[in-house]
Amino acid sequence: MIPYGSHDIQQSDIDAVIDVLKNEFLTQGSQVPAFEQALCDYTGAHFAVAANSGTSALHIACLAAGVGPGDWVWTSVNSFAASANCALYCGALIDFVDIDAQTRNMSISALKEKLAKAEDTGTLPKAVVVVHFAGSSCDMKAISAITEPYGIALIEDAAHALGGEDHQGNKVGRCTYSDMTILSFHPVKAITSAEGGAVTTNCEGLKQKLKLFASHGITRDSKVLNTVDLAKGWFYAQIELGYNYRLSDLHAVLGKSQLERLDTYVSARFEKAQYYHQRLSSLPVKLPMLDVKSAWHLYVVELTEHNRQTVFNVLRENGVGVNVHYIPIHLHPYYQKLGFKKGQFPIAERYYNNALSLPLYPTLCQSDQDYVIAQLEKELT
Ligand SMILES: *Cc1c(COP(=O)(O)O)cnc(C)c1O
Repeated sequence: MIPYGSHDIQQSDIDAVIDVLKNEFLTQGSQVPAFEQALCDYTGAHFAVAANSGTSALHIACLAAGVGPGDWVWTSVNSFAASANCALYCGALIDFVDIDAQTRNMSISALKEKLAKAEDTGTLPKAVVVVHFAGSSCDMKAISAITEPYGIALIEDAAHALGGEDHQGNKVGRCTYSDMTILSFHPVKAITSAEGGAVTTNCEGLKQKLKLFASHGITRDSKVLNTVDLAKGWFYAQIELGYNYRLSDLHAVLGKSQLERLDTYVSARFEKAQYYHQRLSSLPVKLPMLDVKSAWHLYVVELTEHNRQTVFNVLRENGVGVNVHYIPIHLHPYYQKLGFKKGQFPIAERYYNNALSLPLYPTLCQSDQDYVIAQLEKELT
């Protein structure tokens, strides 16, 4: 089966991990700060805080933004459930914004309208989590211009988008127009640490909160402890209810080793995306946009409600691991129980009925890609 996504491990990754295995520290050593620094160097953000998954990164980002019981958080309905679950972990209320049919990202006009209504009813969100779907950045400048006057925290879920750029050419993760950006290093993503994630930010205060929430809410900071306690030597203080969301040194060194090849990976993905574009342009399918510098996490074509299931089945039967991204979050049984209804986000629902993710990853070889294309041609012409 040609998978829809696949990671790439090279000897240098293996050597780096083995080195750490022979070191004194398997966790809480020097590898995590080194990986965090490398993420800052790559993205241009001032600070990066590693976490043990993209999901825990989302959770601590919401906590650092001050999200708590009674607050609203909004996110794009076309995403992985984690983009919404993070709000519920904080005891907050979740709502969704429909997508734009072209970008498949949160619709800016829908967001604007929804904010105006929420202002009237006093239900403005504390935070908005935008998702750079498939690796293609949202128009962050336009979105921040809308959310900023309301004082809403803006969090980018860039689990798909490390290595990409926004509409102004800023690296995703630089937080040029947002408070925080979360990254994921799951093996299907741009680079992997097996499991892992991070939050980037330019705000020192947020960085300190992120660190606190990722490590039990415990601090040894001399600015927080009084001099008597500090003099004790052993003393530390738990000042928040935090978690153990730390990344280990083994994971961190793998992530750092992979980060060195990120640009090569993104270029390889882009080349393959362009090739799909050329070869599929005459077929009756809607292709993704090629405008912003996407990280090309996914290559999603849109078929029609009549043929998506058939094409999915035939490709799977013929060894092509096509997939569907995403079931709109509000359609999951858990979210239906919270009161969300089918029909509430019609553009995302229509997109979902037609979407098909084709195999795309840096090591996808041309003959496999030609095979995928030939299978599609056979079904659609
Ligand atoms: C993968 C992913 C996450 C979660 O990341 P994990 O590292 O798997 O916890 C969050 N949001 C989106 C959009 C993702 O694709």
